[in-house]
Amino acid sequence: MAQQPDLICNVCKTNKAIGVAAVPGVPMSVAYCRECLKANSHPMYVLIANTICAGGLENTIEEWKQTVLDSLKHQDKTLEWFNEQVEEGIKSMDEYGKEASNEGN
Ligand SMILES: [Zn+2]
Repeated sequence: MAQQPDLICNVCKTNKAIGVAAVPGVPMSVAYCRECLKANSHPMYVLIANTICAGGLENTIEEWKQTVLDSLKHQDKTLEWFNEQVEEGIKSMDEYGKEASNEGN
């Protein structure tokens, strides 16, 4: 029987995962290693996508802001970098919205 490959953490993509858990506040589960779980560190693409849907970090609840800050700290990224990603995403969603509403004309 073929051996199952080790499940790697979806956050740091380095350590062996200890299990799969839900991202807080997001209907999605990813694999976590012990270090990322302990640090409250979650995949950036999930944090960015969910914050884009909220229209920016300023529109999110305190628990979400803390989750973002903990993840940024653990992954050596800045809040400025995060806000830039979110802004770009909101802009491209706005563009898509304009295109979609022009299609009927
Ligand atoms: Zn990890």
